[in-house]
Amino acid sequence: MFARPTTCRDRPALVALDPVRYNGAMAGCRHLPDDLSPPPPSDWAGCTSCIAAGRRDWVHLRECQACGLVGCCDSSPAQHATAHARRTPDHPLVRSMEPGENWWYCYDDDRAFELVAAPPAPTRTA
Ligand SMILES: [Zn+2]
Ligand SMILES: [Zn+2]
Ligand SMILES: [Zn+2]
Repeated sequence: MFARPTTCRDRPALVALDPVRYNGAMAGCRHLPDDLSPPPPSDWAGCTSCIAAGRRDWVHLRECQACGLVGCCDSSPAQHATAHARRTPDHPLVRSMEPGENWWYCYDDDRAFELVAAPPAPTRTA
């Protein structure tokens, strides 16, 4: 079942999360890698940049699908996930690390989507 995230306002601030399940090329994102497995997260405990800065005030976590950097969402004060994508234009894809959320978001294509039969997103358990 597609779960529309309700506690975080970041990706739909750009475009409404599309409730339709896509597959492969129909996702509307030009950046999906051949291997959809998420890279190893830089941290399981939280936002790597927040932890480095000595803060723990993030709300939700996103994982960069190019390098595995864990960043905080746009409802978090520091908004590190978006900052990473802006600073690193060839890293436009993130996945949610929130339990029960499997969606991707592409900053460059401004699309949020789920994919049928894709590997599960890395899920933060702590
Ligand atoms: Zn894309
Ligand atoms: Zn952060
Ligand atoms: Zn990255």
